Amino acid sequence: MVVNARPPVFADQLMAWQRMHGRHDLPWQIKPADPYRVWLSEIMLQQTQVTTVVAYFERFIERFPNLHALASASEQEVLSLWSGLGYYHRARNLFACAKVITSRYAGRFPESAQELATLPGIGPSTAAAIASTVFGERAAILDGNVKRVLARLTCASQPWGSKALEQVLWAEAIKRLPKDSEVMPIYTQAIMDLGALICRPKNPQCGRCPVAGHCQAFQRGQVDRYPVARAQRSLPLRKTYWALCFDTDGIWLAQQPSSGIWPSLWLPWVINPDALPRDWKLTVQGLQEVIEVRHSFTHYRLLISAAMLRLNSHALPPGAPKGLQRFNWKDAMRLPLPAPVARLLSRLCPAAIKTDDGPRKSRRL
Ligand code: SF4
Repeated sequence: MVVNARPPVFADQLMAWQRMHGRHDLPWQIKPADPYRVWLSEIMLQQTQVTTVVAYFERFIERFPNLHALASASEQEVLSLWSGLGYYHRARNLFACAKVITSRYAGRFPESAQELATLPGIGPSTAAAIASTVFGERAAILDGNVKRVLARLTCASQPWGSKALEQVLWAEAIKRLPKDSEVMPIYTQAIMDLGALICRPKNPQCGRCPVAGHCQAFQRGQVDRYPVARAQRSLPLRKTYWALCFDTDGIWLAQQPSSGIWPSLWLPWVINPDALPRDWKLTVQGLQEVIEVRHSFTHYRLLISAAMLRLNSHALPPGAPKGLQRFNWKDAMRLPLPAPVARLLSRLCPAAIKTDDGPRKSRRL
């Protein structure tokens, strides 16, 4: 049975549920709404779950309590505070955006979604989230959670990730907005909460769903079919070789150029594979073990073979690149590090450093 959603009823039911069961105590939900906090949280929440974001958000607010403080910082400091949250282009755009708002708008956020969407790092959905939550604009959001909810509500047949699905769902999101702009903050929060708490990717809680009566997938008993999965494509595998030179007190790292896959972040010695002897694992002095780390990018997967080289002096092995700098463990962990480097370093904390008893077998991290 196909159920026609009547937008006002849909929005009313959703908001009534949010008032009773939604999230009201997140650290960026202060009253009156603060555009700086809402913007910061929205950028952090892109591709990242609330439970991860809360601690980062609180650290950021403590160090940068307002836009002016953020715009006056250095990019390195912003990247350091972002370290571990991944997707560093968000941190760079955040910093660039703070500077633009400070210089072009005298430190005041523009109030319309259209103008917000012209700023660095703010796409249409993020712009709508800020404009609707802070300024009460009737602007529709369409982040990943909302896409999933709407795809199920409407049994959208277009595959996930396609432009066609995007178009259909934007129209649907706009159609369902409440008429009254005053309720926009609660409506936006409500549809976010529905995706995060009830209509989750796996095991959606349809029995507790406030809009189950509007949901075509539920009415047809086909919730597991939506959203329609995109055709699987196998990503190519690339390999890279790193050497982590460390001693009891610290580690050597090099800052990457400002372009490339990890711009301006800190990596260990990246070994040119052409320069590797065939039996490199056995010939490198001080080798403790080789750890394999996998990391996925949008277009390929990366297999990192990381050789752990424990040094007995501050002298680096022959062939080490000039850019390597030594940091003590505490300072190293504060640098902006790509996720796989952060994982390797957390394993190498001084307490966990093993005695030098020769090469061990490779293993996966
Ligand atoms: Fe999602 Fe189920 Fe609610 Fe439909 S009924 S919106 S599938 S939770």
